[in-house]
Amino acid sequence: MKPFFVSSRQKKMNPQKNSQPHIYNISLFTNVEQDTRNKLKKLVHDLILANEDSRLLIIEKIADIVIPACSGNLDNQLFSEFSGLLIEYLLDYFLELKSTQESEFYHFLSFLSHCPVTEDSPYYPYVQKIMNDHKESEPELMNIFNRLQLLYLLTENGDFGNAEELLEELEPVEENKHLELWALFQLSQTRIYRHQNKPTELLETQLNLILEVYIRDSSDSAINFIIRWLISINWFKQNIIKKTLLLRIKDYLLEQKSLNTAMVLYELFSMEDRLVPSVEKIEYQRILIKYPVSMLNVQQLHTLYFFAGYYNCGVLSNFKDSIQNYQYSNYFLHKSWDSFLHLSRFMREHLDPLRFYKAIPYLESRIKELSNQASLQNNAYVESLQANFYKIEELYEKVGELSLTDSLTGLRNRRYLEGNLFQMVILAARHNVPVCFSMIDIDFFKLVNDNYGHLAGDFVLKELARILNSEFRKSDVVIRYGGDEFLVILFDSDQRLSYSIMEDLRQKIEAYSFDYNNQIITFTISIGIACDFHISSQPKNLAKCIACADQACYVAKTNGRNRVELYQSPTGATDNNC
Ligand code: GH3
Ligand code: MG
Repeated sequence: MKPFFVSSRQKKMNPQKNSQPHIYNISLFTNVEQDTRNKLKKLVHDLILANEDSRLLIIEKIADIVIPACSGNLDNQLFSEFSGLLIEYLLDYFLELKSTQESEFYHFLSFLSHCPVTEDSPYYPYVQKIMNDHKESEPELMNIFNRLQLLYLLTENGDFGNAEELLEELEPVEENKHLELWALFQLSQTRIYRHQNKPTELLETQLNLILEVYIRDSSDSAINFIIRWLISINWFKQNIIKKTLLLRIKDYLLEQKSLNTAMVLYELFSMEDRLVPSVEKIEYQRILIKYPVSMLNVQQLHTLYFFAGYYNCGVLSNFKDSIQNYQYSNYFLHKSWDSFLHLSRFMREHLDPLRFYKAIPYLESRIKELSNQASLQNNAYVESLQANFYKIEELYEKVGELSLTDSLTGLRNRRYLEGNLFQMVILAARHNVPVCFSMIDIDFFKLVNDNYGHLAGDFVLKELARILNSEFRKSDVVIRYGGDEFLVILFDSDQRLSYSIMEDLRQKIEAYSFDYNNQIITFTISIGIACDFHISSQPKNLAKCIACADQACYVAKTNGRNRVELYQSPTGATDNNC
């Protein structure tokens, strides 16, 4: 053990105890007994303080507890729970250590989600610089880096046949010389152990990797490997442990806007809706899209924007944002195809023809996945446009309806006369159906306002409108013509019948008590009637009929109010056209 190494670690190992109560305790969700948990916790504590020589010994002791408990099987629920506990105990230490500056190695880790990093990649200069810092022949290191990228990508694609062969050919990378290359190697190695169902080797590699990275670099980098471990575990039905651990890291690191936070937030975002509801996901989405692009790859950005498009359309009915998000999502989907082509070219260049041939089915499944995403994307986009279109249509109808409706009484207003009513009257005239116009005006309505207040006046108008609506047939039209004036158009009702209907109405209102907050208001109405059989197809004739009814109403007023008057032409006739 190197002396500098001890002192730096000891300095790091005096964390400030967190004053926050421990709300993310996963022991609630695990079947591992308290006794065993205590033993494990102590061993993890020892592991962090251990020197290089005793580290492997302690890891072995941990494996001695974990492996028999899960019958040496990686696909055992208990193995996941033990892994969760180990992660929790490691986090107890590492989360308390707030690093001040991000290391170069930590930056290197963000490039891993953009693999393969090749000469035309924006991250290439950084990787090249890191390799240069090793002061070795750069082409040779870049060559090893490429082989390791290949191994990493093969394991990512699930192509373990090729990956295992490549692993055997690769010279083991020494951790002390090239931490980046060693870590990349170890990461691929853990995936292979998982595939081979080798829990002991997997556990040892994971723990050793985290500890080595911590000692050689920083707690940030160690946490990054803990997160990668956490993400790689098959949690079966115990996803709640995963969520608890992720939330704990998130709450510690949220203000950092770093790779670790990005990974945790994205993982929370990707969890099933049962555990992380959509409202929570959209929050993570909003935070994540503000992160530097290097921290998320194009597939992740596509998913984030796609979700936002979907959420804005389905939940918020915000079609403008929905369509904009779908446009971004489409852009990143396009980029995902580019990155797939890039991957495929990289594989063809670095795998011999036979191995490339073996890799093709794995590449094909990526194509299938991308094409599914493209079709989902198209459907969602079209659905959003369609929903947007229906919404606009609905609003358009509503606005049209509102523009024809009187807001106080809910009756049709004067604008209604200009369009629909005119058509109805013309149709009636064409079929020789008599049409009668009655203008109704409240007598001394001003007094109602003066005596009982404006609100009482409003109440009376509404109540009268309700009575008018209930008195007449559906085919008749009741319009609020002005302040206290109502126009009723009776179809298929001649002058005599109309007069009798209106007289009944007049009497009814005269006898009616309007009860406004226990105050009884009474009033009378005056009505003028004008009838016409032959309204020609000229709007002005309709206006003329209304004017005649108005005139008759005026006569009713001057004749003493509370009466019904028929329009009389200047010749004195009441039964001809107005
Ligand atoms: P007349 O018998 O001659 O019709 O007498 P009147 O007092 O009813 O006179 P007029 O019809 O000219 O006055 C109508 C009044 O209705 C004037 C106005 O203050 C009132 N008014 C108009 N619109 C509204 C309304 O929406 N709410 C209330 N409360 N009052 C209204
Ligand atoms: Mg009046």
